[in-house]
Amino acid sequence: MDHGRSGSGCKHIPRRVIAMPDIRPTVGSSALVLNATYEPLCVVSVRRATILVLTAKAECVSDGDGMLHSVHTNLPVPSVVRLTRYVKVPYRTHVGLSRRAIFARDGGRCAYCRGSAETIDHVFPRSRGGLHAWENVVAACAKCNHSKGDKTPAEIGWRLHQIPAAPRGVAWRVLGHRTPDPRWADWLDLPAAAASAEAA
Ligand SMILES: [Zn+2]
Repeated sequence: MDHGRSGSGCKHIPRRVIAMPDIRPTVGSSALVLNATYEPLCVVSVRRATILVLTAKAECVSDGDGMLHSVHTNLPVPSVVRLTRYVKVPYRTHVGLSRRAIFARDGGRCAYCRGSAETIDHVFPRSRGGLHAWENVVAACAKCNHSKGDKTPAEIGWRLHQIPAAPRGVAWRVLGHRTPDPRWADWLDLPAAAASAEAA
């Protein structure tokens, strides 16, 4: 699990170790954390979100699926929680460059033939000084990557379907490469369709 990475503000949320009921998170479940101002902050595990609610550090804004049971209380699984106190978060403006993030940005499609991508290609080849940067990396299928070799697209008459650029926006900052839970779409300003049901 890698909850709480990708430019999140999670580390700014107050953390306190308390005696907890036995919370068994549902498989792969996570919750969106909103600041007191309802601004999306980060994604945490359902367990962490539950602790925030139980310690009154956050309130549940949207329930997920099912209930959490303990000796003392039954609680709906939180899907979106809102911090009760505002936390000031210095936002990272850059989205980290990783293989998964590149695939997510490019929708898993080859930048040259739109087929299924399995590799990362440097548009201007690294062997010729091309940078490992958002503007110079694309997802590519193995076939295109191999045919292209150490050429630029222009040299072999290929065209990029899209000019690569660093991803921007609140959804990227909060989610990174994660697939959002459909319940988060409103908060992250996502079209409902973008928040696919394959999440969670
Ligand atoms: Zn291809």
